[in-house]
Amino acid sequence: MTTIIDGKETSRRVLQNLRVEIEQLKQAGHTPGLAVVLVGEDPASRVYVNSKVKACEELGIYSQKWTLPTETTQDELVQLIHQLNVDTRIHGILVQSPPPEHIDEQAVILNIDPRKDVDGFHPINVAKLVLEDPSGFVPCTPLGCMELLNAYGIPTQGKHAVVIGRSMIVGKPMANLLVARKANATVTIAHSRTADLPGLCRTADILVAAVGRPCLVTADFIKPRAVVLDVGINRVEDATRPRGYRIVGDVDFASVQPLCSAITPVPGGVGPMTIAMLMSNTVKACKLAYGE
Ligand code: NAD
Repeated sequence: MTTIIDGKETSRRVLQNLRVEIEQLKQAGHTPGLAVVLVGEDPASRVYVNSKVKACEELGIYSQKWTLPTETTQDELVQLIHQLNVDTRIHGILVQSPPPEHIDEQAVILNIDPRKDVDGFHPINVAKLVLEDPSGFVPCTPLGCMELLNAYGIPTQGKHAVVIGRSMIVGKPMANLLVARKANATVTIAHSRTADLPGLCRTADILVAAVGRPCLVTADFIKPRAVVLDVGINRVEDATRPRGYRIVGDVDFASVQPLCSAITPVPGGVGPMTIAMLMSNTVKACKLAYGE
């Protein structure tokens, strides 16, 4: 039997626990605050930003939504970041990715106070992840993957984990979390130039797909009884759907699911965990700010 890992239910539980923590913080006079900054008109980014603000409202986290026009200059954006860095109501700052092309995303990230970098993209937080320093912030999607493994009691110690994808948002932090002493997996990172990807993946007890290629991972990638986490969010045309498309992961769920011991569906797997972990990072930033 294959366990379908339910990200919606797990994220609900994470948020429920956060509600209690937020209430305690408020009673001590501290309301966690998150600023979400969107530059430009990208429709998908708009949806992401709105859902992050909505999640704050539902939890009682104070939020600021900054929607800046596409022509905003790098200096103007950095000025806003500096303003948010010193705003005591704000504990977390998030600049929605990707910004318009004329903005150097990495340079903007460098201007975020690392103590407010709830996305975990600042080099200080990247270093803290590698150093296994728990005071740092870890990117939300891989953090959500680890939470799913924990929630389902999936052992990682001594297991071979293969992470497909080497981005700074998912692949690399995921690999770091799995290899850290808390998880003790043996980790291989695969990418677009990896030789014999299916053969390598067939050695994985835990396979994480963070590629952005619809249904790349098929049955011939899977070791029997492997655990598969599908991070991919891909739009594929589908004339039978009112919107004209549907969302699929990087894993061909239909062929892979019968072979594994546990798998995340798309949608409803890793996706819902990302926002829950953003809320969790915001609460953590608030606690760190007040030494709690
Ligand atoms: P990215 O484009 O930055 O990185 C993709 C990685 O995949 C690269 O490292 C590349 O080397 C590798 N790759 C590309 N083609 C490959 C191939 N044929 N074989 C092996 N490796 C290959 O993407 P990302 O930001 O890491 O996102 C990956 C996927 O995860 C996307 O579908 C994205 O939408 C999704 N995502 C989901 C969430 C979530 O909340 N669930 C969050 C972030 C990203």
